[in-house]
Amino acid sequence: MATPVTKQHILNCQFSNWYSLFRTLTPKAKVIKPIPTSILKYLDEDGIYLKNVSNTIEDVTDRENEEGREEEEEDTQVSSYYPDKSTIQLIERVISDLDGAVVPKLNWSSPKDAVWIMPTGSMKCTSAEDVLLILKSSDFVTHDLDYAFDDCIEEDNQEADSTSQRFPSDFSHELILKEWFPIHPSTEFRCFVKGKNLIAVCQRDDNYYDFLEHEMKEILPVLRDLTSKLSEFPDPNFVFDTYVQQNRAWLIDINPFFARTDGLLFSWEELYAMDYEKNSPEIRLIPK
Ligand code: ADP
Repeated sequence: MATPVTKQHILNCQFSNWYSLFRTLTPKAKVIKPIPTSILKYLDEDGIYLKNVSNTIEDVTDRENEEGREEEEEDTQVSSYYPDKSTIQLIERVISDLDGAVVPKLNWSSPKDAVWIMPTGSMKCTSAEDVLLILKSSDFVTHDLDYAFDDCIEEDNQEADSTSQRFPSDFSHELILKEWFPIHPSTEFRCFVKGKNLIAVCQRDDNYYDFLEHEMKEILPVLRDLTSKLSEFPDPNFVFDTYVQQNRAWLIDINPFFARTDGLLFSWEELYAMDYEKNSPEIRLIPK
């Protein structure tokens, strides 16, 4: 059965909360908390600030056909606001500390829906300009800014509130810059934990990889091992994302155990109904 999600569950899954517990299990990152107000203002403004409008549009639309180019030029609004120099320098300094390339995210979400705007077609950012542009172009980031607590209940109130964002009074947004490293999507997994037990595992990527079928028996113990290292997480039910590389599972993210987290190859009806005492997690891979 679905258990209601409280604001505390959502807060526990903020990057800074779990990172402080599991720093050694996850790639290096820097938390900038609170996020500088000039970034919030920039993200809140209509339009995108482009330093050199014609050049940047050129870059974005090189991959498009002529028709797309005309539309893009008509649609692009130019906002006059850009974060101040000290904020830009702060981001540049962190990028440099993290070996020159980062993946940005806010409290919960990365801008993975906005990779189309990056010349590399990925979330890899090597400058403050990259970071700001991809954040600004992402609806997932907007969700963190405005709607993060929708559909949650208060601890003492069983009714979900979908009408108000009602951020907790001591809440602040955070900018996360994670050190970029090459990830092969074939060994990225989403793991579902119930009652502290690993109950289900599936691929994150939606391509078929034949080697996974036989390698899962080696990968599963690595996933179980990471699950046991996450026992300090304050909730018994949660969903974590991991990247397995050479017999080591890196923690990538922690999400709440409820239907706003994508169940990927599982439906939430199935996940809610699964027995948390089962011995072996159910594993689902993309079929041939
Ligand atoms: P979200 O919570 O928005 O899904 P994640 O932190 O899980 O964001 O990252 C989304 C994807 O970005 C991952 O599946 C992975 O492919 C890629 N990614 C995440 N962190 C890194 C990193 N440090 N370096 C390179 N790619 C990353």
